[in-house]
Amino acid sequence: MPIVIFLVLAFAGMMLVYWYFSPDEMSAEGVTAVSAADNYLAAPIFKNIPAKPVVQRLSQSPGPILVGIISGHRGFDSGAVCSDGLTEAQVNETIADMVLANLQNQGVRVEKLDEFDARLDNFSGTALVSIHADSCDYINELATGFKISGSAFTDSSPLSICVEQEYYQATQMEYHANTITPDMADYHAFRQIAPSVPAIIIEVGFMNLDREMITTNAQVPATGLTNGILCFLDAYKHSVTAN
Ligand SMILES: [Zn+2]
Repeated sequence: MPIVIFLVLAFAGMMLVYWYFSPDEMSAEGVTAVSAADNYLAAPIFKNIPAKPVVQRLSQSPGPILVGIISGHRGFDSGAVCSDGLTEAQVNETIADMVLANLQNQGVRVEKLDEFDARLDNFSGTALVSIHADSCDYINELATGFKISGSAFTDSSPLSICVEQEYYQATQMEYHANTITPDMADYHAFRQIAPSVPAIIIEVGFMNLDREMITTNAQVPATGLTNGILCFLDAYKHSVTAN
């Protein structure tokens, strides 16, 4: 596609310069005859094409969309564990698999990643989302809701805001801002991936008070996450087109 745009622009540019340097009173046939017969007219036409803006446009062209989804703790440990044996890794993977399927159904290229996946090193997708869940211990009645932390290596706020809004919209869960830990803010994957990739880690809910929502009703948080990612991709595509 960028090559087609390049060719169309180059052609349009040549035609513009061509007509600009053509004498007014001549008809199209006349100009063609003159340029074919006289090299003087043809030479500046080809020299004057401004190459720089066209080259820049090519380098700004986006790569294909690719979203990385980390299934939290997968391939490493179980994460939080409930008294009946339910593990955070299971909860995370159930939701991650649903998000992956939802995005694939929307034609988005996705990659499912382990917690410490080798592909995270210099991962250069369009976005990265890591899915985790909070403790299964009963802490207090306030230990409910979700929270999101974004990578500070690039501006992750468009991704973060989209996911927060859509997740709230789908689940009606409260945003639990007070317990963002250093593990989330300085999440290991943020330091591994390519520095320009927007990335967030989301704690989808507490395994104690939000258990039903994030297990039995897992499709609900998965839908919220999917819509949040699609919201971000939509804005991303528009920003690329505008440039
Ligand atoms: Zn976790």
